[in-house]
Amino acid sequence: MAECTDLSISPSETPLVAIALGSNLGEPLRQLRSAVRLLAQTPGIQVLACSPWYRTVPVGPPQPDYWNGCLIARVQLSPWALLATLQAIEAQFGRQRQAHWGARTLDLDLLLYGDRLIATSELTVPHPRLAERPFVLVPLAAIAPHWRHPLLGETIQTLRERVGDVGIIAVFSDDVGETTFATAADRPLPEPHE
Ligand code: ADP
Ligand code: MG
Repeated sequence: MAECTDLSISPSETPLVAIALGSNLGEPLRQLRSAVRLLAQTPGIQVLACSPWYRTVPVGPPQPDYWNGCLIARVQLSPWALLATLQAIEAQFGRQRQAHWGARTLDLDLLLYGDRLIATSELTVPHPRLAERPFVLVPLAAIAPHWRHPLLGETIQTLRERVGDVGIIAVFSDDVGETTFATAADRPLPEPHE
């Protein structure tokens, strides 16, 4: 009897994805770590690497500093199923979508999905602001410097060098704790909310 053909993706073909994590409300580091744990426990997601956490100057309306990081995973989920998973985890942390680029307990963005190009109203991949954001490129370059941006044709390391360290205040690594950078002087204005 002929075997059923398994049309699911085989492990060797599962795409690599890059996900950005950010938080500036509640207990950001605790929430970010929990989000990584939840993603790692999700069927169809295998987390391979996670960057250190970077404290960064907020972009948008006045609000507390952010903590940002990135992770790399292998997935057996479609881009849309992965986006739904990211949004479900955001919701679990009480994420409320209010002001554009406003403060949030947890933000999970799909940065790269293999070399796929996606442009729908719901999902754009590569993430449209990836190449201009130090708070994304600095952590991503720490774990995936050689990944080539499928639209721009340049590596993450090249893009990261181009944007520099503007707005990166400090890095937290579990081994050494928090290290403040000289670039903290780049901070544009004191934050009234702190
Ligand atoms: P931002 O992260 O830019 O501050 P939100 O997290 O509030 O904005 O997301 C707004 C919308 O962006 C979501 O409803 C989602 O459908 C859409 N979106 C488009 N592309 C992506 C992507 N690559 N990753 C995450 N969300 C995306
Ligand atoms: Mg988002």
